Amino acid sequence: MANEYYLAIDIGATNTRIAIGSRNGIINKITYRTPREGNELSIPVKIYEEIKKNYGKYIDQIKAVGIGTIGPIDLRRGRVVNTPNLPIHTFELRDPLMEWLKKPVYVLNDAVSGAWGEKFFGLGRNYSNIVYITMSTGIGGGAIVNDHLLLGKMGNAHEIGHIVVKYDSDIKCGCGGYGHWEAYAGGANIPRTARVLAEKYKPLIETEAYREALRGELTPPKLFEYFRRNDLFAKYVVEEIIDASAAGLATTINLYDPEVVTIGGSIYLYNQDILKEPIIRKALKHLVTEPPIIDTTPLGGDIVLYGALATAINPPEDLLRFYR
Ligand SMILES: [Zn+2]
Repeated sequence: MANEYYLAIDIGATNTRIAIGSRNGIINKITYRTPREGNELSIPVKIYEEIKKNYGKYIDQIKAVGIGTIGPIDLRRGRVVNTPNLPIHTFELRDPLMEWLKKPVYVLNDAVSGAWGEKFFGLGRNYSNIVYITMSTGIGGGAIVNDHLLLGKMGNAHEIGHIVVKYDSDIKCGCGGYGHWEAYAGGANIPRTARVLAEKYKPLIETEAYREALRGELTPPKLFEYFRRNDLFAKYVVEEIIDASAAGLATTINLYDPEVVTIGGSIYLYNQDILKEPIIRKALKHLVTEPPIIDTTPLGGDIVLYGALATAINPPEDLLRFYR
C-alpha cells in the first residue's frame, strides 16, 4: 500500500478523459465520448463505470478525485448548471461520486483547473501569481493571485472571453454581446465572424477563403490552412484574431498583475507559429503593469487533466470552504 494514486477527470463538450496519476504526474489516461442523452446522473454514472472498469484494481490506493469541467458550475453543490455546450444541460458530479467512490471529490471549472495545473506541474511552479488562458472553442481563463486560486461565488470567475476588445464592433459573440474577444477568436464564432468580415471586405481578388467565408464555412482549421497558403482574406481574418487577442491578453494582465501567463487551447496550440509572437508583441504595448513571462503552456492539451490531478493532490484552500 505504499503507492498513493489520484484520479483526474476532464469533462469536455465532446470528450471526457480520466487519468490516474501520482505526485509525479499522469500515469495512464482514457478517453470516451461525453454522454449526450440521459438525466442529471448519466454523466457521473458513466464516470463511475469507467473508473471501475479501468482503474478498479487500484481503488484502495486512490486518495482523492479532481475534476475540471465545462461550466457554468455551482461549487456549493459541485455540479454543472445550465451549460449551453451539452444536451444534458444540468448534471451532478461531486455528491454522487463521493458517495459511490467513498473518496473526496473536488470540482473546478476547466480553465480554473488549468491554472492550478500550471502551478503544480507547469511553468508556474516557482510563482504565486499565475494566469492561464485557453483559446479553443471559446476563450477562458484561470488566475492565481498571491497563491489564492480565484473562484468567484459559484466557481465561474474569469469570463475573460467576454472582455470587450472593440467597443463599436458589429461582430456578435455567442453570448449575444458585441466586440468580445471570444467573438473574434473563439473557434465556435470564427465562421460567423469571418462571414461578417467578408461581407464588408472589398477584395481585389476573390480568394478561396473569401468565398468560403461568405458561405459561413470558414472553420478554424480551414482559415489557418488558407493563411499558410498566403490567402489574402485569410491573412486579414487572422490579423483581426491577433489584434483582438492582444487586446484581451493585455486587459487580462492588467487585471491580475501576474508573474507568469501561459496560453493553451486547441486554436492556439495548433497555430502557435502564427499566433504567439504577434499576440505577445502587440499585447505588451497595452500594459500598465510590469510585463510578466508569457509563454505556451508546457502541459499542452493535458493541462485540464493536470489541473484536476493537482486539485486531487492539493485541493486549493479557497475550494475547501465550499465543503464545510
Ligand atoms: Zn461574449
